[in-house]
Amino acid sequence: MTHQFLPLKLSQFILVTTLALSSIAYAQQSERPPFQHYYVQGNVHMFEPANTNGNPGALIGDDGILLIDSHFDFSVEDLLASLGEVSDQEINFVVNTHVHPDHIGGNNKLAAYGVTILAHDSVRLQMLEEIRIPRRGGSYSPAPAPAARPVITYSEAISFHLNGEEVRVFLAPPAHTGGDSFVYFMGSDVLHLGDVFRTNMYPIIDKYNGGSFHGMIEAMGLAIGMAGPNTKVIPGHGAGPSDREGMIVYQQLLFTMRDRVQALMEEGMSAEDIIAAEPMADYDERYGGIPSWTSVDVIPIIYEELSER
Ligand SMILES: [Zn+2]
Repeated sequence: MTHQFLPLKLSQFILVTTLALSSIAYAQQSERPPFQHYYVQGNVHMFEPANTNGNPGALIGDDGILLIDSHFDFSVEDLLASLGEVSDQEINFVVNTHVHPDHIGGNNKLAAYGVTILAHDSVRLQMLEEIRIPRRGGSYSPAPAPAARPVITYSEAISFHLNGEEVRVFLAPPAHTGGDSFVYFMGSDVLHLGDVFRTNMYPIIDKYNGGSFHGMIEAMGLAIGMAGPNTKVIPGHGAGPSDREGMIVYQQLLFTMRDRVQALMEEGMSAEDIIAAEPMADYDERYGGIPSWTSVDVIPIIYEELSER
């Protein structure tokens, strides 16, 4: 008798297992993909990683793919899979907006696939050595492999001509680092500003690699001046594409930080006093939620730059 029940039990087991597996599959499907795809405008797309750090952009068309930033080494396969869902074209070029590992980390693997890497002159020089990173009070990342280095570098500006438009890559004023590239997709009317522009946290000024708070205000002014009402803007960090209005909000944040620190300095406060006074408390909910970099990290940099004036 027992064996007659066996198929039933087995089928029950299979049913339960199938339900369990399908619920796991459903859970996986309902979770956010490793890279969230956004169609931005014209020929330009955005591939936002789960933590929105180091958002890659891509110009996609019949001439192939121009990728902006290569994210981390470990996520190249996920990034390629996301790109593959949008286009079967090859990636021909990568532009690194600056030297941080969430923007250059995928270079090594992409170079092995035959992708040509371009960045500002200074990024290549910074990649010859161990890279110092400002978050968490400063940490180090090993020097990237020689194959990960840009093979084309520029000093002031350079243009790609592909997919029916000009893509202008140019050096921003010293801001997030001293080698920040802005990328303007002229036909699509889309800007990728790397980490000079972020929508989810306070500005990171990387003093180890030539960054400047005052330069960041200037760089945002430059980008705002270039943008029209229909321009779309990809932030280095933050969810989804932004626009001219979003850049103005961010530049206003920079002005507010500067003016509040300045006012407290004029009262004779030290950098420590100013941090203790929590002058950005009303902005912390929006911009201060990422513990590795908060207003406590930015205030001493603003203080130092204002002291030098
Ligand atoms: Zn960065």
